[in-house]
Amino acid sequence: MTRQDLIQPPAHVSARTSRRTGRRPVAVGLVVASVVLAAVFGAYPLLDRADSPVVQAVDGVLDPGADPAGSTGVDGGEIPDGAATLADDLPAVTGLDPALTEAVRQAASDAATDGIDFWVTSGWRSPAFQQRLLDEAVRKHGSLEKARELVSTPELSEHVHGKAVDIGPTEGAYWLVEHGTDYGLCQVYSNEIWHFELLTEPGGTCPPMLDGAAG
Ligand SMILES: [Zn+2]
Repeated sequence: MTRQDLIQPPAHVSARTSRRTGRRPVAVGLVVASVVLAAVFGAYPLLDRADSPVVQAVDGVLDPGADPAGSTGVDGGEIPDGAATLADDLPAVTGLDPALTEAVRQAASDAATDGIDFWVTSGWRSPAFQQRLLDEAVRKHGSLEKARELVSTPELSEHVHGKAVDIGPTEGAYWLVEHGTDYGLCQVYSNEIWHFELLTEPGGTCPPMLDGAAG
C-alpha cells in the first residue's frame, strides 16, 4: 500500500462512502425520531406524572386552581386559621385595594396603642370563593333569600373587588365601629359589625348603613 493509497481510498470504498453520505440525513432523522419516540412512549411513563414539566404546564392552563377567579382555597382568598395581618403574603390581603389596606393599617396601629389588637378575618375573595360562601349559607339557612341577608353574590360583594375587609375579633371590630371614620372606614351593614369599606375621607361622614344584603 502506497502513501497515496492511505490518502485516497480505493475506488470501491469511496463509492460506498459517498452512498452512505447520501443516506446520512435519513439515518439521522430516524435516530432523532427514535429518541423522541423513546422519550415520549418509553421513558415518559416511568416519570411520575407530576414530575413532567410538560404536564405541569398543561395542568397550569387547564387546572381551575391556577385561575384566581376560579379558586376557592387560599388562592381564592381563604385565610388559613381565619386571621391574617396586613403583612401576610396571602391573596386575601395582597388582593385588597392599597388605599383600603393603608387605612386599615393605620387604624390597627392606633388601636394597638389603645391596647386593642385586631386582624383581618376576610379580605379579597375570588368570585368562586364568594359563590361557595353563598352556597354554604343557602344550605345552612334553607333558602337563597335568607342566605342573601348574610352573604352577598360574587357580582355584588365588594370583597370580590378588594374593597372590603372583615375585622376580628369582636372587640377589635367594635373599636373600628367607633373610630373607623377617622380613617375613612365605614361599617356598611347594620347586621355586620365586622365588615368595613373605605367610603369616606379620613374624618368624613359615612353613608347611611344598609339593613342587610351583607358583604
Ligand atoms: Zn365582609
